[in-house]
This record gives sequence, structure tokens and C-alpha cells, in this order.
Amino acid sequence: MTITHQENQVILEAKDLGKYFQVGGGFKPKRLRALNEISFTLGARQVVALVGESGSGKSTIARLLVRLMEPSSGKILFRGRDILQEEPRHASLDYRAQVQMIFQDPFGSLNPVHTIGNHLERPLILHGKAKGAAELRDRVHELLATVDLNPAAEIAGRYPHQLSGGQRQRVAIARALAPGPSVILADEPISMLDVSIRVGVLNLMERLKADRGIAYLYITHDIASARYFADRTMVMYAGHIVEGAPSEELMHKPAHPYTQLLLSAVPDPNGSMKSELKAKSGAPKLIDPPPGCPFADRCPSVMAVCRQEMPGATQLAQDRWVRCHLFGQGTAASPVDSQAQSAVGPRSALAEGAAS
Ligand code: SF4
Repeated sequence: MTITHQENQVILEAKDLGKYFQVGGGFKPKRLRALNEISFTLGARQVVALVGESGSGKSTIARLLVRLMEPSSGKILFRGRDILQEEPRHASLDYRAQVQMIFQDPFGSLNPVHTIGNHLERPLILHGKAKGAAELRDRVHELLATVDLNPAAEIAGRYPHQLSGGQRQRVAIARALAPGPSVILADEPISMLDVSIRVGVLNLMERLKADRGIAYLYITHDIASARYFADRTMVMYAGHIVEGAPSEELMHKPAHPYTQLLLSAVPDPNGSMKSELKAKSGAPKLIDPPPGCPFADRCPSVMAVCRQEMPGATQLAQDRWVRCHLFGQGTAASPVDSQAQSAVGPRSALAEGAAS
């Protein structure tokens, strides 16, 4: 697909975004570094995956971007606007309409005593997308039909417990669509669903990207689904982005030892597990971390320098980079993982997939 100028436009940008928490009391409180200064861009109609294990900081990024929590440092730019500087309620409301979030647990994100129709009416009213009862009803039915929940009138009258897990996640997607967003932050949107319906939900998200020009930040611990859905993948470890590349390239030629570890845990089509890489288990130290690479205690390729200096970002190709001493010292500056470097294209197989 040829990338037009508009499609290559940056919509959302994180600039040196950091988040620290104070832990412990007394005279010597400590800082937990949930997110070190990270920078990346999300372009129109682009899917960027953030992959990493629990506690790597990927969900913290989504919560900062959707303003459920405030960052300790850095900037969030939406179409060039510095969002953190905008206090007036109307500006904030506009941003919240444009940047929506889907959560991991579709049941937990829906109110059990409200009907599906109630859940969709609220954002439509709040963001002024429908006036009057008839228009509101029509818009609700339209949203349900968009996410393949039919017959819409019947589904609108049901309660969350009367739907399957896949249907509930489709309601959550419909609710996110209600204000007319250009960006959806999807935090593990399929990890609680049955394997058989995961592809259907990803295919729906892919269709919405094509039909409505929606860009996604796709957060997952499942690197295989990132390959399936995302144009570009960033790998996170201990609050750092350690590698960024077009998804296909990352899967075929992972550079960082941690990326190799993640891929080694993906079952191959023959049903056996790859086992070329043996890494030690263990969690990174986020409170007062030691100097050097946070992966050093687990890395099978660790060197003396790894325990002394945090590796900088080394450019491996025009559209990919890595933070690892195996590839040189890199540059001290925080890398900006940018779609401008990436060949963005749709996963054509997805567009043809069946919905469930
Ligand atoms: Fe392993 Fe050193 Fe690279 Fe860190 S910098 S991933 S410890 S080789």
C-alpha cells in the first residue's frame, strides 16, 4: 500500500514520558521507576504494539496517555498540541473523545446493573453525539451493528451477564467508538477471551482501522498477536523500550536478548516449544535499580559493561533500533520510536478474517 502524506501523519506522540512512584514512608522514601523516559509516535491508521511482561510499564503508558494518571515528566502531544498544558474542561473533553481506551476485562469494565444500551448512551450524550431519544436509540443500534452485535435492538436491552466474553468486548469497543475517536489504546483486549474468538476481535479492530481511520496502541504480553495485528512493535522491559522495529522484521530477526526470549516462548506450528535461548527467571529491580542494563541478571549474553552502563540506542536500520551493548554503546539520547521510519501497511489476511 502506498503511504499517503495524511496516513503518515503523527497523531499522538509521547516525549520523554516518565512515571515514578514514591514508596515507603519515613525520612527516606524510595522511588519506584515504573516508566523511564520513553518517546514514540503513533501515526494515522497505524497499529503500534507494546509488548512485554507484567510490570514492564506498558499499561502505565496507556494510563498516562488516556490521562487516568499524570506523568512525572515528559509531554503528550496530540496532533501537535501539548495536552498536559490544557486545563480547560472543554479541551480535556475533546482529547478524551479522540483518545479512547479498551480494557483487558470486558466484564469488569461494564456496569452489571446497566443495560448495553445504557452503556452506549452515556458517551453519546456526554460528547454531544446524539440528541433526543429517537436519535440516541438509532446511534446505539448503529454502534452495535458496527461491531457485529445483531439484532442490535435485542442486544441493547440485555445486561452484561447475558452476553459472552467476546460479545462484551465488542460492547466495550462500541463504547470506545461512540465519541468518534482517532486513537484507541487497547490494553490486552483479547487476553481474557477464549482463543477461538480472539482473531475475530482483532479482525474487527482491523476493519475499524480501515473504515474509520483509527490508530491503535496495542498493549499485549503476547508477541505472536502483535505480529498478527501490529505494523510496528516496541518491546518493553523494566520501564524501558529496549527494541523497536516493523513487526515482521522483529519476529524474523529479533536483536535484543529479551525479544529473543519472548519469541522463544511462542509455540511453533509443529506444537513444540523453541528452546534456543535459556534465560534466568527473575524480576527486574524497579526500586533503586542498580546501574547498567536492567536485563543483566537474566541475560545469557551478559558482559561486564552491561552491569556498569545502561546501553544507549543503536540504530540497526532506517526503521529499527535496539538498546543492547552487543550492538554497541548507542547514543545516550532517548530514542523516538517513530512510524515515520516504518513501512506501514495493513495485514491483508486480517481484513478477510471472519468475525465472531
Ligand atoms: Fe544482555 Fe548486556 Fe544486552 Fe543487557 S546490554 S541485553 S545484559 S547483552
